[in-house]
Amino acid sequence: MNEPSAMPVRVRFAPSPTGPFHIGGARTALFTWLFARRHGGTFILRIEDTDRKRYDPEALRLLLDGLRWLGIDWDEGPEVGGEFGPYFQSERTELYRQWADWLIEHDKAYRCYCTPERLAEVRERQKTNRESLGYDRHCRNLTPAERDQQHAETGGHYVVRLKMPLDGETTVHDILRGDITFDNRQLQDLVLLKSDGFPTYHLANVIDDHFMQVSHIMRAEEWISTAPVHKHLYDAFGWPTPKIAHLPVILSPSGKGKLSKRSVAFTDGGRKVPVLLHEFVEAGYVPEALVNFLTNVGWSFGDDREVFTVQETIERFDLDRVNPAGSAFPLEKLDWLNGLYIRDMAPDKLAALLKPVFEHAGYTPSDDQVLAVVPLVQPRIKTLNEAIDFVGFIFADTFTPAPPEDLIQKKMDAAGTKAALEQALAALEGLPDFDAATQEAALRPLAKELGLNPGQLFGALRVATTAQQVAPPLFETMAVLGRDTSLARIRGAIASLDHTG
Ligand code: GLU
Repeated sequence: MNEPSAMPVRVRFAPSPTGPFHIGGARTALFTWLFARRHGGTFILRIEDTDRKRYDPEALRLLLDGLRWLGIDWDEGPEVGGEFGPYFQSERTELYRQWADWLIEHDKAYRCYCTPERLAEVRERQKTNRESLGYDRHCRNLTPAERDQQHAETGGHYVVRLKMPLDGETTVHDILRGDITFDNRQLQDLVLLKSDGFPTYHLANVIDDHFMQVSHIMRAEEWISTAPVHKHLYDAFGWPTPKIAHLPVILSPSGKGKLSKRSVAFTDGGRKVPVLLHEFVEAGYVPEALVNFLTNVGWSFGDDREVFTVQETIERFDLDRVNPAGSAFPLEKLDWLNGLYIRDMAPDKLAALLKPVFEHAGYTPSDDQVLAVVPLVQPRIKTLNEAIDFVGFIFADTFTPAPPEDLIQKKMDAAGTKAALEQALAALEGLPDFDAATQEAALRPLAKELGLNPGQLFGALRVATTAQQVAPPLFETMAVLGRDTSLARIRGAIASLDHTG
């Protein structure tokens, strides 16, 4: 695949917007895009929206937003246009009808007038006789007179079916899998044009790939069975078949079973695995990490490297290192990568990503407030959402103090805790600065003076100021809360201990 080909590289991602954007589709888009960028080619986004019953405008929005979020840009397609448009198949129906007529005229396809009732009867009969199921090619063999009669009787209501060879074999070459041979007797005369005048996937896909001058097709493994049909369609038209690669399915983290649209998969640790792109966004993953992770699902960078930038991938991406076997989806690895990318991020960028996360959780911090908590969370979180539990309380409008018992640390009592907090309060009140280092310089010796270990004193202060048992490091937290808030909360805690025996 590395040698320059005579034909310019033009590849497409051709989703059907019928439901939310699945992670498998995102991986197909990513590999196709990487291939285009690697070869200086063109990446086309084509919307296969001819199934009008299942078309969903919300799915289209999720798709475009999802691609943008991943950083996958398209050279031709919706919003950007291009000289091979329109890029919505629903706007190209005239072209499909013309070519369906052409196939009929050239005896490569035929009109089928069979009613749904007849098709159901055929199916029943095949089931009873334990024959293989499929259309019995009734209309393929109509005489011209019979055809005219059917046409008149049905009011010109028909579908168009491709005339497939009745025997022999069809071999399709897959870039990843080599030659795949199909027994023609198993293949069907599939419908190309439906009775509503809209094409099926097969017709529209082949016509568009041809007229959009697609050089390489990358699509999901589940389409392998349609490859011989498409090959016959290309041959029927007398067009060259583009090179084709069926990308491996994505398996659940356990490696057992496909990570399908409807499946609910769990990790070994019992966590539900997100499968839709927007679920990954909502779970607080960052695009760089997800792209790095997805690149590893079915492809390997080599040199034992698991962490790499998109630019590095573009420089070496090719199909020869795509493993055609199904690839597992190790979610823990994504968490690890996500934490890594978060730690490497410029603080203001992380703040910009965290702000909507806090807002979604019901907090309304200012930009500066978010920036102030970045040092607290950046070394510690694996997903953006983890920041909510960690520091969200800092932005809360109201503070609900912890019950006084929670202030009392191991091997301490109420009176001792109260005395310790009073001493700490006095020490903090007198500090020239309220930054973390200054606080620490005062409080560590104080713990010793009081005969406490630091954990006891700091634990009491942590609960007093945050009402949480687990929070980021105490001094940094108090610095972000500010002197007034921190001291007011310590005073409140001291008062609450008055009533505790
Ligand atoms: N519309 C098809 C899909 O959503 C496209 C498959 C292909 O790339 O040919 O899977």
